[in-house]
Amino acid sequence: MLTYRAAESVENHAIVIGAGLGGLASAMRLGAKGYRVTVLDKLDRAGGRGSSISKGGHRFDLGPTIITVPQVYRELWAACGRRFEDDVTLKPVDPFYEIRWTDGSVFRASGDTDAMVEEVRKFNPADVKGYLKFLKDSQRRYIVGFEGMVAKPMHKLWETIKVLPQFAMLRADRSILGLARARVKDERLRMALSFHPLFIGGDPMNVTSMYALVAYLEKEFGVHYAMGGVQAIADAMVRVINEQGGTVQHGAQVDEILVRDGAAQGVSLTDGQVLSAPLVVSNADAGHTYDHLLRNHRKRRWTPGRLKRSRWSMGLFVWYFGTKGTKGKWQDVGHHTILSGPRYEGLLRDIFIKGKLADDMSLYLHRPSLTDPSVAPDGDDTWYALSPVPHLGHANPVDWAKEADSYRAKVAAVLERTIPGFQAHLSEEVILTPEDFRDRYLSPNGSGFSIEPRILQSAWFRPHNVSEEVKGLFLSGAGTHPGAGVPGVVSSAKVLGELVPDAPEMPVLPQRMAAE
Ligand SMILES: Cc1cc2nc3c(=O)[nH]c(=O)nc-3n(C[C@H](O)[C@H](O)[C@H](O)COP(=O)(O)OP(=O)(O)OC[C@H]3O[C@@H](n4cnc5c(N)ncnc54)[C@H](O)[C@@H]3O)c2cc1C
Repeated sequence: MLTYRAAESVENHAIVIGAGLGGLASAMRLGAKGYRVTVLDKLDRAGGRGSSISKGGHRFDLGPTIITVPQVYRELWAACGRRFEDDVTLKPVDPFYEIRWTDGSVFRASGDTDAMVEEVRKFNPADVKGYLKFLKDSQRRYIVGFEGMVAKPMHKLWETIKVLPQFAMLRADRSILGLARARVKDERLRMALSFHPLFIGGDPMNVTSMYALVAYLEKEFGVHYAMGGVQAIADAMVRVINEQGGTVQHGAQVDEILVRDGAAQGVSLTDGQVLSAPLVVSNADAGHTYDHLLRNHRKRRWTPGRLKRSRWSMGLFVWYFGTKGTKGKWQDVGHHTILSGPRYEGLLRDIFIKGKLADDMSLYLHRPSLTDPSVAPDGDDTWYALSPVPHLGHANPVDWAKEADSYRAKVAAVLERTIPGFQAHLSEEVILTPEDFRDRYLSPNGSGFSIEPRILQSAWFRPHNVSEEVKGLFLSGAGTHPGAGVPGVVSSAKVLGELVPDAPEMPVLPQRMAAE
């Protein structure tokens, strides 16, 4: 029996540097366009910041925990002729999350408008009217910012200029905290309505109020958890890529993108191997792509000086830990909890502007074992506590090799107020500091989410999806348009799907004869 496959040729070969979720989604889109795709990643498993580390029966999902806008994944799978639901199970989380303040007050966020109004009333009845206005603000920003821009190519200045009148009408020049201040008076509510950009590396005091659209996203499409963690999404993506005839190689670090006469020719790896392809997609951080992988190529726009002057998202201190025999304990602590520290704006200023590691902190506490039994041994819990901290590019960066232990102790003291006695149950643990982000993901300045999503670093102003520097080079992932967050990086692959031509048709050849 004969089987037939498109001839293997350099012409229809595409290389994707990085198996982050943006890189894997790009590989799927290219596979659907007929390319023979090779994905290269330095790590030992797929998913990049969305990968996991398993230890002593605990699976520590290292990054994203909140899955919103599930249609983004359904659409990606459909573009590859498959159904997302056949590969990944999403479970709605309700309530979405809780925010707790040091004065004992608790805000429970959900998709139910009446329940949300009651939450707001609890804090300040006079703020209900402003909250309802904020919901409208959020929906209008969703229509312009998400539907109108997120999955659209933005590398032509005209595309950005076109939306300026709507941006002006929506006061996109105002920060999201500025918008929250205009709508509600209670300081805690101002925080509850404006903190979301922190999940994609933005300072609420400085990122555009367009990010208020997240409130609408959550309300309209829910907050979900991927069973098996985001690792399960990454692994499912790899299976699709393999079925399309592509490969994902781990332990493969790209050293340089090879360029001849201004066009990409392939890549060289740190072990000396050379792979050829006329189409290269970099899912490595845009800063690393231009500063390191194209270090021998003269740049017009993304020079080292410009990258250095860019504002980078904050760093993250993340403590992943297991607790033994605690199932059923701390019943008031749900899947997602935000522990708001004593300061909001002052802390943001320390992290983003001054680059100072403060003694106080706000934490995001993740407890996936409440939803997903596969993350922890029977009877145990798996957690992570995340603290936003300065990135390493500020003057006098934190020396984490020295500071990590004492900072961990400070995090533990804050956690003791919410999960008293947890330290007596500690089993496995892993800590990632900005130095680990720098070394593990090759993230410039050890930042958690690449270039900060400020208005003048977004859309056309961000490194483009189609490289400004090299023909045949494309970018996907957090450092390019539309930006960080899983929906963002998966949408960057959709943009590539529009920009990259279909693979050249190759003759179809017989592969083997079963009788031989
Ligand atoms: C702790 C944390 C929590 C988060 N929570 C959420 C959340 O709840 N919801 C949400 O939507 N988003 C969240 N995010 C953001 C989201 O995870 C990221 O924005 C997104 O996963 C980044 O994907 P990416 O495609 O840019 O690639 P990355 O994840 O950055 O992956 C890039 C890959 O490229 C590889 N690489 C880099 N350079 C090279 C090279 N030279 N050679 C070979 N390989 C290379 C790296 O090893 C890495 O695997 C979170 C992020 C973090 C860190």
